[in-house]
Amino acid sequence: MPRVKDNAFIINKTEYGESDLIITLFTAGRGKINTIGKGAKRSRRRFPGSLELFSRVAFNGFIKHPLALTRMDECQLIEPFTAIQEDLHSYFCGCYFLEIINRCCAERQANKALFNLLNDLFTFLATVPHNRNFNCRIRLFELQIITLLGFKPQLSSCLDCGCELDTGKYFNFSPQTGGLVCQSCQPRHPASFSVSRGTINMLNQAHRLDNELRNKLNFTPQVERESARLCRALLRWHSGYNFKSLKIMERYAENDLPVAKTEPALAMCQPKSYNK
Ligand SMILES: [Zn+2]
Repeated sequence: MPRVKDNAFIINKTEYGESDLIITLFTAGRGKINTIGKGAKRSRRRFPGSLELFSRVAFNGFIKHPLALTRMDECQLIEPFTAIQEDLHSYFCGCYFLEIINRCCAERQANKALFNLLNDLFTFLATVPHNRNFNCRIRLFELQIITLLGFKPQLSSCLDCGCELDTGKYFNFSPQTGGLVCQSCQPRHPASFSVSRGTINMLNQAHRLDNELRNKLNFTPQVERESARLCRALLRWHSGYNFKSLKIMERYAENDLPVAKTEPALAMCQPKSYNK
């Protein structure tokens, strides 16, 4: 009956019965795991304010069976990233990334680089003001997470016939193939859409940037829009899922959202329901 001790981020939580919680963690050593916190809704001694979304925690528990939920016995707060919860824009962006982890990560597959990226992302969301660079930085985080999940788009040649693609102002991106297709092959890819050369150049160079450059970068609105569309189409294709947090962010952008957080992240990020 192996004991588990690890650092983790709180990715999701669901009420289970009167006093228990199902808590999804993204851990440093084991990737995503679902845990059950017995009495977690009431015990402030074992879970002292440490079960809020985005929090970085140190937990210990045990795994009774490889296929069973890990039992969480204790959870201590390391970094709450409270500011994310206090700002609607940061909160919705953060929930979108939690939803990506919930939907696109397989359980118990360690990914230390992804753990470190979540730490960078939550630090950014908790500290950086919403200037013009904010949305560009979010696009870069989106691209980084896609790469770490293994969905990195192929953007140099046609993935259907293999021909080189180095001319033209616009290219066809096919989420189904995970990359570009040439004009001749495009009719076989009805879900493909047009992406400008500027966006393809940015996507090809983005993975070479260091954090200092990332924080200074500004894209044109067209590059930002196309990059978001491309990344989201890839995530939708791989997960087979329409992200609820994106719909809420779109409503927020259209100023059609109540100021209060009427749709808690728990409902947005819910990977599945547990019935007792
Ligand atoms: Zn082709």
